[in-house]
Amino acid sequence: METIAAIATPPGRGAVAVVRVSGPGVSQVAARVFRARAALTARTATLGDVLGEDGTAIDRGLALFFPAPHSYTGEDVLELHVHGSPAVARDTLLATLAAGARAASPGEFTRRAFMAGKLDLCAAEAVADLIDAEHRGAARAAAARLAGGLAAEVERLRARLGTTLERLSAALDFPDEVEADAPAVLAATIAAVDASLRGLAESWETGRVVREGLAVAIVGPPNAGKSSLLNALLGFERALVSEQPGTTRDFIEEILALGNGTVARIADTAGLRTSGDELERAGIAHSERALATASVLLVVVDGSVPLEADARSVLTRTRGRARVVYFNKRDRGDAGFVRRDPAEGDALFGSTRDPGSVDAVRAALARHAATDLDTSRPMLGTARQADAVLEARRALADALATLAAGDPVDLIAGDLMRADASLGQLTGRDASEALLDAVFARFCIGK
Ligand code: GDP
Repeated sequence: METIAAIATPPGRGAVAVVRVSGPGVSQVAARVFRARAALTARTATLGDVLGEDGTAIDRGLALFFPAPHSYTGEDVLELHVHGSPAVARDTLLATLAAGARAASPGEFTRRAFMAGKLDLCAAEAVADLIDAEHRGAARAAAARLAGGLAAEVERLRARLGTTLERLSAALDFPDEVEADAPAVLAATIAAVDASLRGLAESWETGRVVREGLAVAIVGPPNAGKSSLLNALLGFERALVSEQPGTTRDFIEEILALGNGTVARIADTAGLRTSGDELERAGIAHSERALATASVLLVVVDGSVPLEADARSVLTRTRGRARVVYFNKRDRGDAGFVRRDPAEGDALFGSTRDPGSVDAVRAALARHAATDLDTSRPMLGTARQADAVLEARRALADALATLAAGDPVDLIAGDLMRADASLGQLTGRDASEALLDAVFARFCIGK
């Protein structure tokens, strides 16, 4: 096994930069790149000189030594904490490479931790999601998954299927000695496993809003006050923008904290309204898409004047969709609001200049984002895991159909094996190299 090294902290200047080294050559690397009065002690910070490739001191810093197997990777690990200058961090890394380590690839530390049995594949994915989390809700959900025992739960289900499968093949091999389980018994076991898998599949759906935020599109006629409302909602949070590539025109999504640990991702369609035909068209196409894909629509109309055709049309078009209807410009009058259609009965009425109105809109969005996700239970966190559960449930459905049709019970062996294989991919217990490559490629270097 080679010894790997990487800068574990983000690029750029900072108070501290950490270079991490893992593998059998750690002691040799430590001897070359770190000089202190006393020898390194396990899991204790030691102050000393960090030495460059040529053996001269390049910084004064801390060394932390985690002997195998009690380390992140399960191997000997050395962490060098140096001053957070990109030049010092790079020179420290180069010194470890000169001392015999090689540059780590993305996720290689975590992959080694996985290989050493320090964490299962589901937990490794949770680590990646935790690092990627852009807001508190996503971070908490990922942290819960890191601790959540998904793989253990799935392995428990596999064990149940495995026992059933063993009895099935024993009855096939030794028909005189072993009696096969009755179809009803088999069906009950399979249905119970499937019910647990259904619970996991539901956690993927319920978790969506926590992971991704509530997709909101603001719609309404020009001049209704959409931009004003968006600005008022965002306040100082406006700096939190994320680019959403791959659309007609890259557009900005604003991230709005809803106050209950979730966020709304608001497609800023208002910002796209421009003069000039091409941009206008792009803007309209974009608005249409945002409208089609949003989970919740924030419909804004001017409530101070009798509703114009545009306003009536957007209200009619969005009926039946999850939406928050907001009549604006209350400070100017109520001619539109009071004569609203009964279908808009629960609409909000306010002014973007009144913080109370803006809070009411935020609260209404938060109600749409409310989730009954129970983060103390195992839950799915990645599309890969959700696919594996789907595949397993398909196989179990096939088995149940065979049993229901009264066909010979040994016909379900293949289905149970398929379900078991999918679940083995999920936990990583039976993961292929290609799958591991794909999972760990998502990681950053140094993790
Ligand atoms: P959009 O075209 O829907 O994005 O509308 P804007 O946010 O650009 O607002 C259109 C006009 O209405 C601007 O002049 C705003 O200052 C004004 N406006 C927005 N909200 C209110 C409100 O609550 N009361 C009043 N009186 N004017 C508002």
